[in-house]
This record gives sequence, structure tokens and C-alpha cells, in this order.
Amino acid sequence: MKLSKKLFLIQMVFFLLLMGGVLLTVAIFVLPEVREIEAKKHLGSITRVENALNDELEHLAISAVDWGEWDDTYNYVILPNIAYEKSNLSNETLSDLNVDLLLILNKSNEVVWRMTSKELSNAAENALISGNRWNAQHPLLYKPQQAAMQGIFLSDSGPLLIARQQILNSQGAGTPQGYFFFAKRLSQSFIQAISDKIETPFSIDVVNNTQDLPSLTFISNNQTHAQSSTPFENSDNKVLQIDIFQARPFYLQALNAITYSLVAILLIGVISCLVTYFLLKNILINPIVLLQKQAEMFKKHDGKQPFKLLNRKDELGQLSSSFVSMAKDLSKDWGRLEQEKKDYRDASYTDVLTGLKNRRYLDEYLQDPNSWIHDDEWTFFTIDLDHFKVINDNYGHDVGDITLQQFSELLRKSCRDNDIIIRSGGEEFTVLCHQTSADVAKSIAERLRNEVENFNFGHENHFKITCSIGFFVIRIYSREYGLKHWNSMLKVSDLALYAAKNNGRNTWVGLECLGQCSEGVYPKEGMDIQHWLSEKKLKLFSFNKSPEDVYW
Ligand code: GH3
Ligand code: MG
Ligand code: MG
Repeated sequence: MKLSKKLFLIQMVFFLLLMGGVLLTVAIFVLPEVREIEAKKHLGSITRVENALNDELEHLAISAVDWGEWDDTYNYVILPNIAYEKSNLSNETLSDLNVDLLLILNKSNEVVWRMTSKELSNAAENALISGNRWNAQHPLLYKPQQAAMQGIFLSDSGPLLIARQQILNSQGAGTPQGYFFFAKRLSQSFIQAISDKIETPFSIDVVNNTQDLPSLTFISNNQTHAQSSTPFENSDNKVLQIDIFQARPFYLQALNAITYSLVAILLIGVISCLVTYFLLKNILINPIVLLQKQAEMFKKHDGKQPFKLLNRKDELGQLSSSFVSMAKDLSKDWGRLEQEKKDYRDASYTDVLTGLKNRRYLDEYLQDPNSWIHDDEWTFFTIDLDHFKVINDNYGHDVGDITLQQFSELLRKSCRDNDIIIRSGGEEFTVLCHQTSADVAKSIAERLRNEVENFNFGHENHFKITCSIGFFVIRIYSREYGLKHWNSMLKVSDLALYAAKNNGRNTWVGLECLGQCSEGVYPKEGMDIQHWLSEKKLKLFSFNKSPEDVYW
């Protein structure tokens, strides 16, 4: 995987971890904390409502004390009189006092006076306040030992706030003469008035006492439902349930803030990742890639492509300068090695004595597919000096060497530049000529033979020497054919040389393939040649002799 890809992946992992971490933090720490704060606040509203109801009850109780501990009421309950009723218990009294019930009970629990609002009396049978003489178990005579009592009671007309005060004289003393009651219905309009006062909309309901309250339910992102219950003084299985549906501005605000923060973190994360990616790419990866590419080019061009120095002062700059100097040294060594390699290769292909190419070169040349030019006429010459041993014997080995050098020079002059001249061993030579027909081959052979015959060999003592030449001419149609059969072709050229030797030396014998050689079967000895000649697969050329007279 490329470095830039790895860097990109690292950035992605970093970014995902960052975003995952932020989301986890929000989910585990922030949102639950926000909900808890919210829950406290929303449940606090319930307390506010309960306090408001208690305030109302307190208010009612104060009024009941005002009326109950009053000499006029005290006297009235002992001896009911029209004067008290006229001045205190008019039709407007209930609405003036803003209550639904005013009730006076004497010592014997007989109702002395009862006034109810229209809404309260409308209930066909209001068991809670009905009856003219109450017994001691009446729910409103509850807690008889207490002079004052207040609470919420369940009536046929719904929940009632009821305050009770023992009737005493204005000093709050004297023999208790009964009870004074005020009651107030928790009507819809009264609830609304309380809601307005405490600025907390709520509703009430009478429900079975089965739920585990208070509770807070998060209905949606916009609303919560807080519930609590207040027991009735006169009922165990029913309770007064308070319901508050509240909006969640704090939660929504927190949610918005979190969303904006997340978007901001996301954007900042993306921008930071992009910026760091491009910075790291430019500062680290691009120079490394440049160095790596330069190293590749350096190798591809065999150390001839120089390293570019990175113009920077950090470790990469130092690395590139190390590369530059290392590359310079390597280039020098490389060049030297290349030259040495070339020298060694040339040396291994060159015959030391004559400077001609040697047999190893010939073999490699013939095994190289590039040497076999498609559809070309080739001539393979094999040349051997006649009675060369005698030269060595008569003039010494040194003169023999000089003779070989002089012959090589003659050979070079007789051939074209692109002919391949080989000293194949001892005093034997091979020449390969491209695009050379049998006629041209004959003239080359004759020219060489003649020049050698007439040349004065030797250094101080001159002497004559001759050579014998065999050659084979063949048209090569395909590269594969040449690669497969070059050995056999050389062999035919050799056989032609033996024929030249056998027919008196200082002569040449040539064979031309007449086309049937393309089958790939070649003569292996003199007998085969004779056979092929008779079958006209080969054509023979010789110096100074007719083909029939050539001895094999
Ligand atoms: P032929 O006509 O049959 O070829 O007779 P020849 O004497 O030339 O052939 P032969 O194979 O009998 O002898 C070849 C001689 O060439 C023997 C060997 O000492 C000599 N010779 C081979 N290589 C060298 C060399 O590098 N320097 C010298 N001075 N002589 C060499
Ligand atoms: Mg010889
Ligand atoms: Mg020889």
C-alpha cells in the first residue's frame, strides 16, 4: 500500500475515533446530565403546585380561624339569632369570601348553618356535607382532638379544600361550641387561577391510588409529563393526581448547542484532517516518493541519472544530500565497473595473439536471436593454414605467432567491416558473411587464397605459406531455423575445408545449399556430401578443379 494511502487511512481512523469519542462523551456524560437537571426542574414544578394548593388551604384555614374564633359566631352557635345571620350570612357571603361552603356545626354536631355555592349544591347527593346532625364518625369530624383541621377531601362534586375551626370566643378560649367550616371546590376556573398565579399550567384528576408517583416521563424532545399525587383525607384508594405537561426549552437548547458543536467539531475535524494530510504529504511523503523515484531512475539508467538535492534543512534534506553524494560515488563505481565489465567481456571474446574474435564470441553470436536476420543469405568460411607446423618447426614458435598475426591482417583486409572474423583455434579461422551469395563467396575465397599465396610471411626470413578454404552458402528463412541449425552449417563448412585439404591444399572448396536444406537434415561426413551432391541438394564450387574431380 502506498504511503499516501496509508496516511489517508490513518487520518480517517483518527477522524472516526475523534467523532466516535465526541459522540460517546455526549451520549454518556452530557445528555444524561442535561436530562437530570431537567428532571429536577420539572419535578420542582410539581412542588410549586403542591405549595400553591397548600397556600390556598392555609388561606382558607385563616378565614376559618377568623370566623370560628369570634364572639359573634360563638354566641350565634349557642343561640342562633337572626341578627348574626342578617349581618354575616347574606347571599353574597360565599362569593365575597370566594368559597363554596360555609357551615356551622354546634356542640351536638347539629348543622346550625349551611351555605353552598350553586356548583357545590348542584350535586344531587353530596354525601360529604349532607345531613343535619352528624355523628362522631363523620369524615369532617376527623381528628376531633385538634381545634383546627384542614385538608383535601373527596366529595361528590370533586376534590374540596376544607378548613375546620373549633368555635371559640374571640380570645380563642371558652368552651368549644362546635365547628366552623369553609370549603373550596377545586374547580376548573380555580385551577386556572392558581396556574396563572404560579405561572405553571397543570391539571388535576381523581385516580385510583395505584401509581408510583411522583414520576417524570420524557414524552418527546419537546415535552415532559410530570405527575404527583396528594392523598385525600377521606379516601385510601383514591388520590388527587397533579399532571403537568411542560415544554423542554432547556433540553432543546442543549440539543441545539450539542448539534452545533458536533457540526463544528466535524467541520474542524475534516478541515484539520485535510490540512494535516496535505501538510504531511508535502512535507514527508512527496519528498520520500521523490527520493524513491530518483532511486528507481538511478537504477534504471545504470547510475547515470543524477540525484536531485532537496532544498531543505531537515533530516530529509540531509538524507537527500547523503543520497546525492552516495549516488555520485556509486555513479563513479558504476561507470568504472561498466568499463571493467566491458573490458572483461571484450577480452573474453578476443583472441590475444591476433586481436580477432574468438570461438566463445562465435558461439554466443550464433546463439543470439538478434544475429539471425530474417531471410538472409549466409556464407560460413572455414580457413586453415597449410603445413603450419613446418613454420613452427623451421622458424620457431615466435615466427609462427607473427605468421598468424600477418595472416589475420590479410584476412581482415579481404573481408567487409560487418563480416565476423574469428580465430577458432590454432591456425584455423572462421568467417561469417551476411548477404553473400555463392558467387561473392567464391570471389572472396579466391581473393584470400591468392593474397596469402603471394604474401611474404615472416619477420627477418621471409617465406611463403598457403591456406585452404572451405565455405558453405545457405539462405536462412527464419530466425528459429538459424538458431537451431548453425552448428550443422559450420560442420558443412568444415567438411568443405577438409575437401580443400584433401585436394592439394592452397585451394578452396565451396558448397551451396540448393533449397532442400530447409528440412534441417545436414551432411555429417564426406560420404554424405557426395550423396547430397548426386541428389542435387548441394552445389559444389572448387578452385582449378571440376566438381566431379573433387576427392572426398
Ligand atoms: P595441415 O596443412 O594439415 O593443416 O597441417 P598443419 O601442420 O597446419 O596442421 P597441424 O594440425 O598438424 O599443425 C598445426 C600446428 O599449429 C601445430 C601447432 O603447434 C601450431 N599452432 C597452433 N596454435 C599455434 C599458435 O598459437 N602459435 C604457433 N606458433 N603455433 C601454433
Ligand atoms: Mg593447418
Ligand atoms: Mg589446423
